[in-house]
Amino acid sequence: MSIYQNIGLRRVVNASGRVTVLGVSTFSDRVARASVEGGQSYVVIEDLMTRAGELISRHTGAEMSCVASCASAAIALTVAGLVTKGRYTDMMRLPDSSGLANEIVIQKGHSVNYGAPIPTMIRLGGGVPVEVGQANEVCPADIEEAINERTVALLYVKSHHCVQKGMVDIETMRDIAHAHGLPLMMDCAAEEDFRKYVALGADIVCYSGAKALEATTSGFVTGKREYVQYVQPQYHGIGRAMKVGKEQIVGLLEALDQYEERDADAEVAANVAKVDYLVEELGGIKGLRAEKIADEAGRAIYRCRVTLDDEAPEGLTMEAVNGELRSGDPVIWARTEFLNLGKLDFDPRPLNEGDKELIVERLRQIMEA
Ligand SMILES: *Cc1c(COP(=O)(O)O)cnc(C)c1O
Repeated sequence: MSIYQNIGLRRVVNASGRVTVLGVSTFSDRVARASVEGGQSYVVIEDLMTRAGELISRHTGAEMSCVASCASAAIALTVAGLVTKGRYTDMMRLPDSSGLANEIVIQKGHSVNYGAPIPTMIRLGGGVPVEVGQANEVCPADIEEAINERTVALLYVKSHHCVQKGMVDIETMRDIAHAHGLPLMMDCAAEEDFRKYVALGADIVCYSGAKALEATTSGFVTGKREYVQYVQPQYHGIGRAMKVGKEQIVGLLEALDQYEERDADAEVAANVAKVDYLVEELGGIKGLRAEKIADEAGRAIYRCRVTLDDEAPEGLTMEAVNGELRSGDPVIWARTEFLNLGKLDFDPRPLNEGDKELIVERLRQIMEA
């Protein structure tokens, strides 16, 4: 029995991925131990934050970094830093930024909801989101012509949630930003490469700690000193509402070390084997079709996609199948991004021992009922 079952909650079979609605990820014993130890003694928090920033930078190759309570907080604090640029009285009146340069230019196809809207995080930091172009098409001119004396940064969101076609690429956005003396800020919350975008010349990049890193609930900002230096001071202002605990910080640092030492190829191979199992077994159930698909955002993630075929019971919909999976005990939680198109996706990464067999058994029961 898990601690959640002990208080009367259902066990979860997570076939969805690192999603906030299910608690994002689970951490290893190693990360747990670090976090417990961190929680059991005092430390000068300002020193811990500064040191954590130095250690994070070793993993990202950037000049400077700062911890945050999650990637959303990292975005808000970054914007707050870019708007206030270290001016004390401006920092103390955030999120009111009236009269200050505060505009963040973002492509319309990047203005997404990842569980909460990106523009909300910009506004939380005192920023004003300026969406440019159309949802399915943005030109460099849309970005260029939106820049004015109130602009403080361009924001590129690297995510499977974004429109993947018709957008201006990172390099072009970086060049436009730099030509205007502005920073390119990136939201890379769910990305798995902690060096790539810094190396590409992005000036300030936000990551989540609990997603790819499987750390304690946390996040961080990493990039050029010129911009990152304004982030940590925000903890004396709006950042107080996004407080990051000492136990979260040391958990994040341990997870970064752990991530560097992992065998990424072996992990991908193990996940592909689970997907192959699901494709084979689920595809064998009367009424279901199953196939292996790759991640929309190009990460090394493979999933099993299930759809109904001609042999499915008359009138049965994928929505109804998903409803059955969600209402059972244990609850089986698949990805529903394309459910409106009749597609249900299973992510193998968060599955525990015995989970994939349980998914097959439940779907067989549902299809035979
Ligand atoms: C998950 C996500 C976030 C937020 O990350 P948290 O750590 O949960 O705050 C921000 N942006 C994108 C694109 C995400 O996928």
